[in-house]
Amino acid sequence: MKNSFPLTGISSVAIHASGHDNANFAHLTPIYATSTFTFDTAQQGWDRFAGADKTTIYSRWGNPTFTTAEETIAALEAFELTGDDGKPLQLKALLHASGQAAMATLFLGTLQAGDTILSHFSLYGGTHELMLKVLADTGIKTTIIDMRNLNLVEEAIKKDPSIKLVHIETPANPTIRCVDIEAVTLLAKQKELLVSVDNTFATPYLQQPFKYGVDFVFHSTTKFLNGHGTAIGGVLLGKDLELMRTSIWKWHVLLGGNSNPFDAFLLTQGMKTLELRMERHCHNAMVVAEFLAKHPAIHHVNYNGLDTHPDYAISQKQMRHPGALMSYELKGGLEAGQRFIDALQMCVRAVSLGTVDTLVSHPASMSHASLKKEERLTYGITDGLIRMSVGIENIADILTDLEQALKRV
Ligand SMILES: *Cc1c(COP(=O)(O)O)cnc(C)c1O
Repeated sequence: MKNSFPLTGISSVAIHASGHDNANFAHLTPIYATSTFTFDTAQQGWDRFAGADKTTIYSRWGNPTFTTAEETIAALEAFELTGDDGKPLQLKALLHASGQAAMATLFLGTLQAGDTILSHFSLYGGTHELMLKVLADTGIKTTIIDMRNLNLVEEAIKKDPSIKLVHIETPANPTIRCVDIEAVTLLAKQKELLVSVDNTFATPYLQQPFKYGVDFVFHSTTKFLNGHGTAIGGVLLGKDLELMRTSIWKWHVLLGGNSNPFDAFLLTQGMKTLELRMERHCHNAMVVAEFLAKHPAIHHVNYNGLDTHPDYAISQKQMRHPGALMSYELKGGLEAGQRFIDALQMCVRAVSLGTVDTLVSHPASMSHASLKKEERLTYGITDGLIRMSVGIENIADILTDLEQALKRV
């Protein structure tokens, strides 16, 4: 950071934490569309490979456009936090081609055959499939429990010495369940286990998991961090800088899941308005949740900002606002839900989340279609459940669209 005083707000950090001087005085970090970087002399090449000169060498290993995005995310996640040494928390962020690539780096960079991940249900579908269909084949197992029951967490950790990593996703799809990051981390740290948090739904503006002593934070940057639905991307952040430089780096670079300069540029631009967008997303979501909860055609609403939600207290404790994701079921079940989705005129029918526009999807046939029906039901994903990512449109128009669609079910 160039300034001599600490920045006191998230928007200032998002806009000014990074940005690289360049030969042509460009205001914004340019899209460095280049695979390789030149050396003036053999000695310079030598110094760069030895690490004495930090200039980038080859874009799979890093690129100035990635660096700007990585430094911004690291500054946001570390905002106003201190490390174990009492100094401002230092984080290393590695940008990836997708959330899935960053997740693969996290698991492969920290675990070996014979190790077990402890996690909870209603994980993002891709994470769940990565664990069951890919990691299982490499000998890395996963145990899934309900982590909102801390006794189950304690019991699982005590019983199974092969557990090495506790992976938390909070809030999680599509019933917006929350896990107490602080309580679970305390239990994990009694056994010196690693803890990772998927912070995609919350973003660092709403929730900073490093505050509770976790080791890694993950984001699908595809969602709120980019914010406009223009690119797929992922990031893995770690506070053990040595581990990030060694084992994590090795998997990231050798599997080749690097980002690309154009997507990294879009991400950097998107993050500058994170605070403004999240304030509006969350404000709109609260109004929509209250409107739906009172509507006679709605059976129930899952939104962690309503005090009827089972995880209301956890979310109030660890989140600035409850977020922009919710799900609900119509009294008429699946058929009514389908008629409702088809009748929407402004809200957009699409999977994904965290874009400026309101997105509506049907988990049972889309994001969670790979799960067996019984499994879906234990996670609260009934056939008629509708998932909504509330956008930043003007609230009156969102309500008008929902109202007219609900009249037609
Ligand atoms: C989208 C998403 C992912 C996967 O990220 P991709 O960018 O699609 O690869 C992981 N976790 C959560 C919570 C997500 O929403």
